Amino acid sequence: MVEPDAARRKRVDVRRSAPSPGPASSNGGAEQAAALQVRNLEVVYSDVILVLRGISVDVGDGESVALLGANGAGKTTLLRAISGLLPVHRGEITKGEVRLGDRKITGLDAAKIVRLGLAQVMEGRRTFAELTVEENLRAGAFARRDNDAVEGAYERVFALFPQLEERRSSTAGYLSGGEQQMLAIGRALMAAPRLLVLDEPSLGLAPALVDQIAGTIAEINRQGTSVLLVEQNAAMALSIASRGYVLEAGRIVLDGPAETLRSDRDVQEFYLGIGDGAGRSFRNVKSYKRRKGWSG
Ligand code: ATP
Repeated sequence: MVEPDAARRKRVDVRRSAPSPGPASSNGGAEQAAALQVRNLEVVYSDVILVLRGISVDVGDGESVALLGANGAGKTTLLRAISGLLPVHRGEITKGEVRLGDRKITGLDAAKIVRLGLAQVMEGRRTFAELTVEENLRAGAFARRDNDAVEGAYERVFALFPQLEERRSSTAGYLSGGEQQMLAIGRALMAAPRLLVLDEPSLGLAPALVDQIAGTIAEINRQGTSVLLVEQNAAMALSIASRGYVLEAGRIVLDGPAETLRSDRDVQEFYLGIGDGAGRSFRNVKSYKRRKGWSG
């Protein structure tokens, strides 16, 4: 399939087309559908505002993938398109396709997409403030009927986040920011997703907590859940992910293995704070980047 942005995209690894499955995905060599395939996606808000301009992204089964980009690049919009939340924001997929495993999910409603195995942790660690930790987690299992499986999901979440078990009867609104992020991730895991999508989980957290959340996301991936991680904290995202994409103004401008991205001079300059562009604000970085251009 021809990608409209292929000519413009700076591809740092041309062998990328077959993403390597993560360690938990071993299936004896049998072919397995990718966890997520996004093809040539175009998204428009309010019928006129074109935000995504032909995006293609893959997450292999068991893989962990980072999506980087400055403010306004379109990261959240891509996640809304994947998880069925665009209509809430007057957005619409006008071209392209999203597949979860071998199912086409383009245009399905969000609850149906959760049932099919995709759970999203939204930006801003949204929890039900009036409910307890346990009630929040129970809400994440809304689509599951098997009580034993739900009990198993609680155990998995409490093993990953022991603090949540200690506070299982506490009201979510009184938890610290870090605990609320844990709860938001835990609630998504209660649906036993095949693919966990996280929007800026490090936002507003102290460095020690960022490290803890990063370690837990890596562990969730090691346990076999595929991960798509949207972050402005590129160092954190590339420490977890095996591959990454850089999104700019609604297009993928760079993609490749995490270690290749980490050593890419533009990524170092604009996203890791190393080199000539280090210390620039994102606004300055964006205008500098426009002058310099990614495609060269
Ligand atoms: P951030 O890191 O700041 O959240 P982002 O990369 O996630 O940025 P988006 O939130 O997807 O970017 O926004 C991409 C563009 O789409 C921005 O120009 C934004 O103003 C616009 N946009 C987002 N939501 C809407 C909406 N509901 N209606 C119109 N335009 C929108």
